[in-house]
Amino acid sequence: MPAPIPENLQRKVSDRLAFYQDLGIAAFYRNRRPEAVFQQEHLVQSAESAIHSTQIPHEEPTLPKTLRKPDLQRLTSAAPPKIAPLPLPAAPAPSLFDAANKIADDTLLRIREDLGECTRCKLHKHRHTIVFGDGNPKAELVFVGEGPGADEDAQGLPFVGRAGKLLTQMIEAMGLQRKDVYICNIVKCRPPENRTPEDDEISTCSPFLLRQLDVISPKVIVCLGAVAAKTLLKTNRGISQFRGQWLDFHSSKLMATYHPAYLLRNPNAKPEVWKDLQKVMAVLGLQPKKGKPA
Ligand code: URA
Repeated sequence: MPAPIPENLQRKVSDRLAFYQDLGIAAFYRNRRPEAVFQQEHLVQSAESAIHSTQIPHEEPTLPKTLRKPDLQRLTSAAPPKIAPLPLPAAPAPSLFDAANKIADDTLLRIREDLGECTRCKLHKHRHTIVFGDGNPKAELVFVGEGPGADEDAQGLPFVGRAGKLLTQMIEAMGLQRKDVYICNIVKCRPPENRTPEDDEISTCSPFLLRQLDVISPKVIVCLGAVAAKTLLKTNRGISQFRGQWLDFHSSKLMATYHPAYLLRNPNAKPEVWKDLQKVMAVLGLQPKKGKPA
């Protein structure tokens, strides 16, 4: 058996691949993205536009050594090229493999039964209750959060703690009630100390979420926070780069916005989220509830 790759090396490789993806360079090791051909054609343009762009966000890794000084000078001294915007993340189109794995006549009940008293990942060790998801199984609007917290773990329902109360206010400000929408999370068991779910936990749990989304097939999915957005869009880009923009997720429209827990810590960001939700309302033909949103 080959020796395992050290963890720090794995992290470096993964960061580097994420960086290439941010430059618009196609995932050469996994060619399932519909924009792969587009990305290859625009490889040089994208690299140049990334260098010329004033919007390289602070959370992005630095340029790889191969693009430092000499290349930078060469690229920046030339007349600025016609800049093609970096392609936004889009969820990979379902592959033949996905299609073959699609469960005919799937239902939320069946998914819940398949999940059972799940012990597939380490999160089961500390959880009290699986938080499957809650709401209208035919909802036009689905909210996807990160993972249950202590209140959710105790009650078996998503978003019932402080962040949940804020989410409920947001839903009501949109002219809806909680029972009109469906609410779920990337992972269904509470991560200890509310830490961010780890990659293996996300990849173990998310197939169930994908089945839920497939069954509900909402018009709009709102990702609450970076974990939900990055998981569904399979991107490592910072959420601020695509927050508030319409993206595609299978047959639904997807919008990422900030997590209500973030809004509790940063109330100044509430107007931005309200703008995002207004875009969602426009697509769903909703009128806001009278009065100022929370
Ligand atoms: N935060 C989440 O992401 N999900 C919940 O269900 C509760 C808090």
